Amino acid sequence: MTISVFDLFSIGIGPSSSHTVGPLRAARRFVDEHLVRPDVLPRVAEIRVDLFGSLSATGAGHGTFGAVLLGLEGWAAETVRPDQVDERLAEMRADGLVQVGAQLGARHDIALREEDFVQRPLTMLERHSNAMQLTARDAGGAEIAVEIYYSVGGGFVVAEGDEVSDHVGVDEDAAGQEPEQDAGEATSEVPFPFRTAAELLEISRREQLPLSRIMLANECASRSESEVRSGLLEIWQVMEESKESARRRIGPLPGRLKVRRRTGDWHARLMERDPDRSHAYWQEWVNLVALAVNEENASGGRVVTAPTNGAAGIIPAVGFYATHYGPGATFADEADREDIVTTYLLTAGAIGVLYKEQASISGAEVGCQGEVGSASSMAAAGLCEVLGGTVEQVENAAEIAMEHNLGLTCDPVSGLVQVPCIERNAIAATKAVNAARMALMGDGEHRVSLDQVIDTMRETGKDMSHKYKETALGGLAVSVVEC
Ligand code: SF4
Repeated sequence: MTISVFDLFSIGIGPSSSHTVGPLRAARRFVDEHLVRPDVLPRVAEIRVDLFGSLSATGAGHGTFGAVLLGLEGWAAETVRPDQVDERLAEMRADGLVQVGAQLGARHDIALREEDFVQRPLTMLERHSNAMQLTARDAGGAEIAVEIYYSVGGGFVVAEGDEVSDHVGVDEDAAGQEPEQDAGEATSEVPFPFRTAAELLEISRREQLPLSRIMLANECASRSESEVRSGLLEIWQVMEESKESARRRIGPLPGRLKVRRRTGDWHARLMERDPDRSHAYWQEWVNLVALAVNEENASGGRVVTAPTNGAAGIIPAVGFYATHYGPGATFADEADREDIVTTYLLTAGAIGVLYKEQASISGAEVGCQGEVGSASSMAAAGLCEVLGGTVEQVENAAEIAMEHNLGLTCDPVSGLVQVPCIERNAIAATKAVNAARMALMGDGEHRVSLDQVIDTMRETGKDMSHKYKETALGGLAVSVVEC
């Protein structure tokens, strides 16, 4: 499997990459691969959706049901706008009809009732705890198509029928095989394949290239360099728009918790105190960007998975630091700023590949260390390279950031991606800045390697009770009384 930076950073809707974007993609894939043929679609009278494990346990708070409905209509996570989501879901609520395949060039309306969604929170399928089965039947009850999908984190989707499986939590016989990936996987041979940090460092030393250039060369196996750069700048633009959109929103965040938004108020106060975004207030600005992007995500807005929606604020927040407080950044012209952004995202992407290849970026598989921890590590590495770090210092920065996120559990209150997720992004972003700065104070030599810490994260995730893996059955989720 060749993981692209565009797989790790993909545009989608909130609030969750594994529980919203993944199920949407799975349902879309089901319709696209099994139902849209002219001799099949008109026969479909009923679609049943079985949700297993974490997808069922926190699906309601994560918008899973609406995402499945949108996927059945063929909407794409990358292009659907939040206002289209709201509009279609309101229409479906009003008339009870799903326009199956409408966005895929064929349309067949069916009624989907509440009882067509079957929830099995305590049933964990063997390959992954985020599982769903889709079954289409005709009017006589005969099965037309059935498929099981796994949402393995970051919006990645694997079907039971795929020959491959993913890392942690998969059955042991299948471990070590390479998973296929939905949603635009780059499949070309790359010049510098790597799975581990040791391999990445070896390539870097041999070729005398920084990590961003290695990743760029690999990306150029399937796209031109200008396409890679413009794609990355588009990703950055969406990150910027997410925080701007958050500033315009008012009222509490969606859901029973009624969490107060902070972005608008904090932005106004910071602009009063520090209109020039001086270095004295860097931490407040970084905190604010992380909070803003995650509030947008919690609102079901448009964000970039980085590498997941729950952790979507960290890469933009540390990117803000890189573009505002990096070397010469204050005075950088647009071309320089674009260079900083592309270098930052490519290096962060190279580190993301290591987590996806060797461990997991799924909170339902390894807890929050896989989501927020991975994002913090990716951001630290990206910042360290932008700040002029050697490849050894960059690896050290990524290692420090993950080392101090090990064991982080996933226990979202009320199953919403709000508490502790939103603040946790701000904390992890400032941790990433600190990790980069610590690495830059050293010479790159250090005791614990990045590969060792990734292995530790994977093993810690395996040992973690399922209560702490996006089920809302433990930790803050049960300690905080909703009222
Ligand atoms: S606690 Fe972490 S892993 Fe869990 S939903 Fe929140 S951000 Fe994602």
